[in-house]
Amino acid sequence: MSGGPVIVGAGPAGIRAAQALAAAGLRPALVDEATKGGGQIYRRQPDGFTRDARTLYGTEAAKAEALHRTIDGLAIDHRPNTLVWNIEAGALDLLRDGRTERLPYSHLILATGATDRILPIPGWTLPGAYSLGAAQVALKYQGCGIGRRVAFIGTGPLLPLVASQYLKAGAEVVAVLDTARTADKLAALPGLLRGPAVLAKGLRLVAALKAGGVPMRYGARPLRILGTDRVEGLVWHDGERERRIDCDAVAFGTGLRSETQLADLAGCRFRFDPLNRAWLPERDAAGRSSVPGVYLAGDGAGIAGADAAELAGERAALALLEDLGRPVDRTRAARLEAKLAAIGRFRRGLERAFPFPAGWASRAPDDLVVCRCEEVSAGTLRATATRWNTPELNRLKALCRVGMGRCQGRMCGAAAAEILAAYRGVPVEAVGRLRGQAPVKPIPVAIGDAPEEAA
Ligand SMILES: Cc1cc2nc3c(=O)[nH]c(=O)nc-3n(C[C@H](O)[C@H](O)[C@H](O)COP(=O)(O)OP(=O)(O)OC[C@H]3O[C@@H](n4cnc5c(N)ncnc54)[C@H](O)[C@@H]3O)c2cc1C
Repeated sequence: MSGGPVIVGAGPAGIRAAQALAAAGLRPALVDEATKGGGQIYRRQPDGFTRDARTLYGTEAAKAEALHRTIDGLAIDHRPNTLVWNIEAGALDLLRDGRTERLPYSHLILATGATDRILPIPGWTLPGAYSLGAAQVALKYQGCGIGRRVAFIGTGPLLPLVASQYLKAGAEVVAVLDTARTADKLAALPGLLRGPAVLAKGLRLVAALKAGGVPMRYGARPLRILGTDRVEGLVWHDGERERRIDCDAVAFGTGLRSETQLADLAGCRFRFDPLNRAWLPERDAAGRSSVPGVYLAGDGAGIAGADAAELAGERAALALLEDLGRPVDRTRAARLEAKLAAIGRFRRGLERAFPFPAGWASRAPDDLVVCRCEEVSAGTLRATATRWNTPELNRLKALCRVGMGRCQGRMCGAAAAEILAAYRGVPVEAVGRLRGQAPVKPIPVAIGDAPEEAA
């Protein structure tokens, strides 16, 4: 199949990749299901909303504006509002305005970003319970909060960040409860000092929360979200005893997880990455995957943040140009790789500061809903694993439908793997990973018709 270079994802990684290809005289297609380019962190508000960049992006306003200017000025084939729902035989299956079409590619850069890693808490399906990312999207995109009295629980850099954004927006932040302990933060300090500017931003967020009178606790253990028709409170354990807070919304999350399904469908080889605690598509320092002509950039191939995504996007584009035999500035390429390696070292410190909550899976009660699409509980996962003596996640999916619903395991896959591994007493990598299946996101049933080939 013919076709030119295609980039999936118009976030920091995809935009910088497109810019580098355009600078070399190519006209790549840049496909994104979002309405406007910017990605997660630099998500733009809908037409008619008038908040300024400082209000929307805080300290990152200049970076956001620079990135938006870049994509708006590029002479490329930008295709917003377009979902890539499959990759097969050198072509993408696209969905736009209810119609599907096939886009062949010669080279493919996947810059698909990340979403929240969800570790469910009893009560998490109540109206008023949101992931941290969703709570931020509500504020950043729609300009509204998830509640008036909001409790934040979990861990990861988004926890203090989104809480401080709610405080600034006028919500009452009733508590910020980090599952990481104070000892974790202290142990992480040497690693965090490798990125003093980011560390300083983090400390400023914590200071702003404290100055706003927000109770902040470390070593917290979420127990349950309370409510009948919607969220009314949160119960957690402080290490000594249970505590209860009244609130009308809860934002929870435990770091991010890479969106890897398209890399899977493109045939990329995966390996388990202990830092991300996830199976990730393999890539070399330049962003080349195990499949010739397929490149990986940004959080979609491992969480490293927006600055790293910009660098990785440009580096992957340079790799693509090298592979085409085009002249490439090798000093620039080496500098990008060196900066990415430095961010990688800082990231190890971040993971120490916000570690995965040990023991979460063994403590998950049997009646906890893990897969909300198919209503599969932790107890069903355990009973199925016992009944069929199943050591592997895809087998568990086939037997009890976990991860088989609308989200295709994007929300429940990580939690289900943790529960299966803890139950079998093996490391999480030993249970494997849910394989990517098309469609990676829901599409209309009518899309069974033969797709048209794009010009
Ligand atoms: C909800 C959320 C909020 C975040 N907020 C912050 C923050 O405030 N500050 C911060 O420092 N970091 C934040 N992060 C992390 C930060 O967004 C990332 O580090 C950064 O955006 C990574 O850039 P990227 O280009 O790799 O991916 P992204 O910016 O995530 O861009 C990926 C793009 O790919 C598109 N895409 C993915 N799959 C498909 C598909 N199948 N078809 C079509 N398009 C597709 C998406 O629509 C998206 O626009 C947040 C992450 C999330 C998930």
